[in-house]
Amino acid sequence: MKKILHIDLDGVIADFITAMNSHPLRKISPYDEHPDTIPGIFRNLKPILGSIDAVKLLLQSDNYEVYFLSTAPWNNSSAWTDKRLWLEEQFGELANRKLILTHRKDLIKGDILIDDRPNNGAKDFEGNWIQFGSEEFPDWESILKHLHLV
Ligand SMILES: [Mg+2]
Repeated sequence: MKKILHIDLDGVIADFITAMNSHPLRKISPYDEHPDTIPGIFRNLKPILGSIDAVKLLLQSDNYEVYFLSTAPWNNSSAWTDKRLWLEEQFGELANRKLILTHRKDLIKGDILIDDRPNNGAKDFEGNWIQFGSEEFPDWESILKHLHLV
């Protein structure tokens, strides 16, 4: 039986922080207080180091059934589309029908969740929460080792 493995996007695969800090609208109201509502900001994010190759390995693994489990800002409706298009750009067909967008990750069934933050229900996920960026799992290499992929 394959294990169901969910992977968060921002801060795990996609580098939202760098895009936010370098965006020309970053310091202009209302985006200074709500940078996640900057139009189009989720469309051109750079990948987190090592994430694309690591996730491709997982997507093609016989041991894991992978989904992308992310939260898109309610007040930035284009972000919902941008996340879908970004995944296709990075992973092509491998990402087909694999995206779950929700504010309640704790309601989603699964064995493992890789997420950098406890927010939106991640800390109450029913399976095992692997916190990306923590001392134990600082990068993708450490996660692949933990999942026995390297
Ligand atoms: Mg995140």
